[in-house]
Amino acid sequence: MRELTARRVQREPMAYILGEREFWGLPFKVSPAVLVPRPDSETVIEAALALLADRAPPWRILDLGLGSGCLLLTLLHEFRAARGVGLEISEAALAVARTNAAALHVEDRAELLLGDWRQPDWHDQVGGPFDLLVSNPPYIEAGAIAGLMPEVSRFEPKLALDGGADGLAAYRAIAAEAPRLVTPGGRLLLEAGEGQAPEIHKIFQSTGFTPEAPWKDLGGIDRVVSLRY
Ligand code: GLN
Repeated sequence: MRELTARRVQREPMAYILGEREFWGLPFKVSPAVLVPRPDSETVIEAALALLADRAPPWRILDLGLGSGCLLLTLLHEFRAARGVGLEISEAALAVARTNAAALHVEDRAELLLGDWRQPDWHDQVGGPFDLLVSNPPYIEAGAIAGLMPEVSRFEPKLALDGGADGLAAYRAIAAEAPRLVTPGGRLLLEAGEGQAPEIHKIFQSTGFTPEAPWKDLGGIDRVVSLRY
């Protein structure tokens, strides 16, 4: 107990100390290799359930930057016939996501792949096309990471936070391949940082995607950018 308290005093996130965090009412294993699932990201699930109102079809879902798997695996849990592909750059994170897929009994419908969607031609690896592409990509401006709360800046994986100089590098990478990955009528639901939605809409200009109203998190911040193909 004293040891656990000492870790918390050092500002280590409670979720890493306990090895678990609840997301959308489901238990997720976490390790320092993955971002701690946040209530803000539940906005992605809320939007998906509203936009794909019918839960029965075998929707095809892609998650870029799986982390713990909280987005994709929750969606597979909710859409019982859906099949999902998840791409993750970190082997250690992928192992956490695989554990979670098995614990939630969705592993038969989840193809979890090691890969880097910042590299050219990564889209060949994931197949598709998909009805829904979700992502909580790294979106913090590189120079702002050190100033975040110590729980985040000292303990959470930089790979999951660092969105390059302006925080938007990941959205550019996704925009470049999205037309090949999403089926006509399909959607992108992308988590975003505060104030980034208009910039992300600009990035998707001339890609064939039409922006819809962003989804707000519980704090009233535009948290999830929705784009229809
Ligand atoms: N929501 C996280 C934070 O503000 C950032 C996660 C991300 O970059 N995707 O700490």
